[in-house]
Amino acid sequence: MRTTPDDAVQPIPLTGTGGIDRCAGHRLDEAWLGAAWSHPSTRVFVVSGGQALIEETGDGRTELVTMPSFDAPLTEAHRYFLGADADGVRYFALQKDALPGRMDDAARPAGLREAAALLSERDNELLVHAVALENWQRLHRFCSRCGERTVIAAAGHIRRCPACGAEHYPRTDPAVIMLVVDEEDRALLGRQMHWPKGRFSTLAGFVEPGESIEQAVIREVAEEAGIVVDEVEYIASQPWPFPSSLMLGFVAHAAWSEPRVDGEEIEEARWFSREDLRAAMESGEVLAPSGVSIAARLVARWYGKPLLSAPW
Ligand SMILES: [Zn+2]
Repeated sequence: MRTTPDDAVQPIPLTGTGGIDRCAGHRLDEAWLGAAWSHPSTRVFVVSGGQALIEETGDGRTELVTMPSFDAPLTEAHRYFLGADADGVRYFALQKDALPGRMDDAARPAGLREAAALLSERDNELLVHAVALENWQRLHRFCSRCGERTVIAAAGHIRRCPACGAEHYPRTDPAVIMLVVDEEDRALLGRQMHWPKGRFSTLAGFVEPGESIEQAVIREVAEEAGIVVDEVEYIASQPWPFPSSLMLGFVAHAAWSEPRVDGEEIEEARWFSREDLRAAMESGEVLAPSGVSIAARLVARWYGKPLLSAPW
């Protein structure tokens, strides 16, 4: 047996279809955007420093805190148009230096790592879009051609240079993340120097210029663990805007051999059978990956059931 049926584990967070049509064709239409903003059904939320307000609804759900546009603090905010849902409700995010205060205390700020485990697919789709735009805007204020300060256009989806006319588009950095398995279906897990003691997870790395994603998987596994991969199977992707990654998840197959770690990024790599991993997690020797990352899902998919994880 090699891989495990997908229904053995939960779906990958931030990859669901939340039903939002991004309406990209309207981003340059200021009249349309103005009418969309003014419509009474339009909903707005503030994003600041990668966080937004969320609140529990009382029936066990958690929602993104939104407001009608006439209540929205537009002053000195950047406005991102995110799209419309199936009912025609349009959504905007306002990027501000701080989240708005609220009279009641039901709402609280949350970053995407926390919120993604709590919110509906629709709210996650809106929040990950807004956070990705905010991170890109924050890090790309100046023209990479001439150095002039750029201005926001296309409802947050372009930065335009007034000096040389260049248009800059949101940047996404592809990264590969892979669970390596051997012929006996053992999994190779590694630990990075700066991780908490005992934490092991999948290997990962950025795709380099001029490289295919399959080549990146093979190179990263060789560099980090000294293992030769001969078969690369794509599983799923996950947006990971910290600040701008797209995680491309793989299972990579390799003949068993002793790992030789690089000693810089990865300090230890070990092969685990499922029984090895179960025993190591139960004894507390190994902390499996957790949270909403695709790494946790890749390992759980191989393991066949949810992992015993530390709550970080
Ligand atoms: Zn320029």
